[in-house]
Formats: sequence, C-alpha cells, structure tokens
Amino acid sequence: MSNEIFSFNVGTFECTIVSDGTFAYPQPTRNVFINFFVNAPKERLRQVLRKHNLDPEQWKENISPYLCLTVDTGQHRVLVDTGAGSLAPTTGKLIHNLQSEGIEPEDVDKVILTHAHPDHIGGNIDSGGKPAFPNARYVMWKGEWDFWTSEKAEAAVAGLKLEEHGKELLLNVARHNLLSIQDQLDLVDHETEIVPGICAVTAPGHTPGHMAVAVSSSGEQLLCISDAAIHPIHLEELNWHAAVAVNPKKVVATRRRLLERAATEKALVLAFHFPFPGLGYVVQKGEGWQWQPVET
Ligand SMILES: [Zn+2]
Repeated sequence: MSNEIFSFNVGTFECTIVSDGTFAYPQPTRNVFINFFVNAPKERLRQVLRKHNLDPEQWKENISPYLCLTVDTGQHRVLVDTGAGSLAPTTGKLIHNLQSEGIEPEDVDKVILTHAHPDHIGGNIDSGGKPAFPNARYVMWKGEWDFWTSEKAEAAVAGLKLEEHGKELLLNVARHNLLSIQDQLDLVDHETEIVPGICAVTAPGHTPGHMAVAVSSSGEQLLCISDAAIHPIHLEELNWHAAVAVNPKKVVATRRRLLERAATEKALVLAFHFPFPGLGYVVQKGEGWQWQPVET
C-alpha cells in the first residue's frame, strides 16, 4: 500500500489525501513523547503508551505523518494545508504527489491554511519564494494572521516548553511564509462557506486562530480537525496537549466540541498527524473517544 496517496469520496466530491512526507520528532531520552503529551503524568503516560503497543523505553523519536487533503468539488480544486516544504529531507513531497495524481499547482484555486505552524504552511511558497499555487486564493482565520504577524507571537512562543531553535523556527517560518502570500490571501473571522460545501470551523487553542474544515456533499460529512488532536491518544486523554499548544485550556474545549460534532454527525474525520491516511471515525468511550481508522 502506498503511504503517499489515498482517494475517497465525500458525496459527489472527489477527495485525496496527499502526503507531504513524515517527520521524526526527537524525544528526550528519559521523557519519551514529551513534545506530544507535555502535561501527561509520567507513569500514566507509560501505561497508555504500552496499551497502544508503544514501548516507552525504546521509542526515542516519534514519526509523524504530514497529511494534506485535496478536494475536487466539480467547481473548485481545494487544498487543505501545504505541508512542511523543505523543513526536512523527508518532507516537501506534496507537489510531486499532487502531480502524480495529475494535479498541477496551477489547478488549485483555494488553499485553506488551518494554522501557521511550519508543517502546515511550509509549502506555501516555491524555492524562489513565490506562491507555490499561483492561481489560488489562500484562506486562513483572521486571528491566526493577526497573531503571527504581530508581537503577540513572540511573547506566546517564548513561554512554550520548546528548545530555542524550535521557537525560532515557529516565528521565522510563520512570518516568511505568510507575508510571501499576502497578495493572494483572504481572511475569515466567522464560520463561513469558503467554497460551496466547504466551511471554516473555529478551533482555537493549538494556535489562536487554528481552524478546522468541514466538507459536506450529498449528506456525507468530512471533518478535518487538523491539529486539534495530533495523536490518537489525544482522543482518549482529552486533557493531554502538545508542547507547541498556545492555549491548552482551549485545546481541550475545542477537541471536545469537534469530537462531539464528528460523533453526532457520524462524520469521517481527517487528522493531519495520525497514521496514514489519517482518516477514521470517532466513537465515544468512557470519558473520551476512541479512534477507528478506516480500512485501506
Ligand atoms: Zn501540525
């Protein structure tokens, strides 16, 4: 099975998961998974990892997929997130993988950016610094743009439990890769239809203007939760959050709201960092939810 491309339908919309590659997040030796579950009690974390057949003593790095989505609605060719670009040798495969499906960058007319972290906007621009999708309008939440292009970002990032080079990366990539597309940028500040059948859904916490995306066609639903959960364990342990989360309390509230919506609507869910193809259903279990990946 290819771990790069996965096609499926939502109603009459033709959807494709297009991988940008994977990234190995290094973990401090004695604190495995600290980046993904920064506030988890250590012993409880060990138990949960073992339950998921992950060895807390052995796994020194956490390999995370970067899963973009493209939707052909019949009228629009939409792309959700642009991957990490040249962040690592293992990333930046988005354009190649789109082309392997017969999709050229010029064909994309909407690029929805769920938030401005490097793994979601790294492919906004090409190697010459120009917008990589020349005919597209890029769309993001206004609060996200305001945050990363103001001094608010510096203060917030300074308070994160990250190494210095990680903090610099967040700030530098956001500024550079947002300012480079501003002539093609549209901002939304309420839940609205971006193109017919594809809606912006407010989902703050991971970042201040983090946005989910709801895709709906002929009674079928797909909810792209982006980084509201970055590992299936976040569905079970709702209060655990990643080191990069700007507002952990809002992460938890957003996660609950999105998962409740997905369960109620029986929507297919796409999570950007979950195991390929990142698609599944959520089922309520105890205090939390359980991830049921689609069969591929
Ligand atoms: Zn991410």
